[in-house]
Amino acid sequence: MDFELTQEQKTIRDTAAQFVKHELEPIAAELDQTKNREKLKGILKKLADLGFMGLNVDRKYGGTAAGTVAFSLAMTELGRACASTTVTTSVTNMVAEVIQVVGSEPLREKYIPSLCNGEFAAGGFALTEAGAGSDPAAMRMSAVLDGDHWVLNGQKLFISSAEFAGVFVVWAVSDKEARKGKGISCFLVEPSFPGLRIGKEEKKLGQLASPTNELICDNCLVPKENLLGVPNDGFRIAAAELAGGRIGIGSMSLGIGLAAMDFARDYVKEQARLDLPAFRRRGADRMLADNTTRLAGARFLLLRAAFLKDQKTFYAKEASMAKVYATEAANQACHDAMEILGDYGYTQDCPVERFYRDVRVTSIYEGTSEIQRLIIARELLR
Ligand SMILES: Cc1cc2nc3c(=O)[nH]c(=O)nc-3n(C[C@H](O)[C@H](O)[C@H](O)COP(=O)(O)OP(=O)(O)OC[C@H]3O[C@@H](n4cnc5c(N)ncnc54)[C@H](O)[C@@H]3O)c2cc1C
Repeated sequence: MDFELTQEQKTIRDTAAQFVKHELEPIAAELDQTKNREKLKGILKKLADLGFMGLNVDRKYGGTAAGTVAFSLAMTELGRACASTTVTTSVTNMVAEVIQVVGSEPLREKYIPSLCNGEFAAGGFALTEAGAGSDPAAMRMSAVLDGDHWVLNGQKLFISSAEFAGVFVVWAVSDKEARKGKGISCFLVEPSFPGLRIGKEEKKLGQLASPTNELICDNCLVPKENLLGVPNDGFRIAAAELAGGRIGIGSMSLGIGLAAMDFARDYVKEQARLDLPAFRRRGADRMLADNTTRLAGARFLLLRAAFLKDQKTFYAKEASMAKVYATEAANQACHDAMEILGDYGYTQDCPVERFYRDVRVTSIYEGTSEIQRLIIARELLR
């Protein structure tokens, strides 16, 4: 692996860093507190204009074609400021990519440009159901072909950006006689399709500016041609796309952890200048050193998984290793940053309070840490 970034990768990383400094950081706390959707959508449109909604998508569909390493670098920079914005960007990239990888040419031409240029504020990835989170093959949403339409019935839970997504990738059981996981298909569903409804919004601990809702299909009519890929191949498609999504979530968590550590380091420096008693400083020194080392390790794992994906070689194990390591390292970093800051870190005056809430879900969604470990072990024992 070449450790030197290309000029394009550096440009994308630096563009993201500049965007964070001038556009995102100044409003991140406000987005969290007010959940101002219009402001969030404004930020998402600016990111689309910069080419950040299709970083690994061909230029002919309006993407940036910069690859997964660039995507990882960008998600880390954005993650330093606002996890709600970053998760929306990461999922939208994932939706654009899945359409590019398995969609028919007319579907690619119809949907990908709108995701990349910001005409759609976001894309939605609708897999999870009650009792089918870690085990999506247990899903119950059904899809029945009736003439020119698939008729979808059932309910998805915890769908990010459902409130304003321009298109959803929705998974449903199309062959209920098939073995578990073998009868699932996926479909592109627009919010305006008859029978689709956005349900209640979840009240969450963190990432408050990113809405998370139920998605209800009540005899939802999906044109026959909006099937993604071939019938009953949906579970394989979900597993493959989630591996790429995990690089995005891991990279975002790295950004949150780095931001927390940077804040704690500056605070310790300031306290040292004010002659803080040596014993407290030593405790902080150790936490700064250990967390910074872990986060550096996380970055290498993430870039390695991204590099392998760009080489079009097998990378699912590496993506899971990177996700479990990065998200757990970032959770520890936010915990320790708050510890270093003491009471101040626990208040809303301090950004670490938000980082601490925002980072928690990164080791849950797109596959919990235990599921990543199962994937890694399965590959090791194959
Ligand atoms: C804020 C937020 C946004 C989300 N956005 C989306 C989205 O956009 N689209 C979408 O489809 N989903 C989304 N999700 C759902 C998310 O992907 C699931 O929460 C996740 O896959 C875990 O599923 P679960 O919550 O049902 O946990 P469960 O599957 O119920 O797991 C509970 C616990 O059991 C453990 N466990 C489960 N099975 C095993 C096993 N076989 N071996 C060992 N341990 C196991 C898990 O590790 C976990 O600790 C979101 C969730 C949240 C919180």
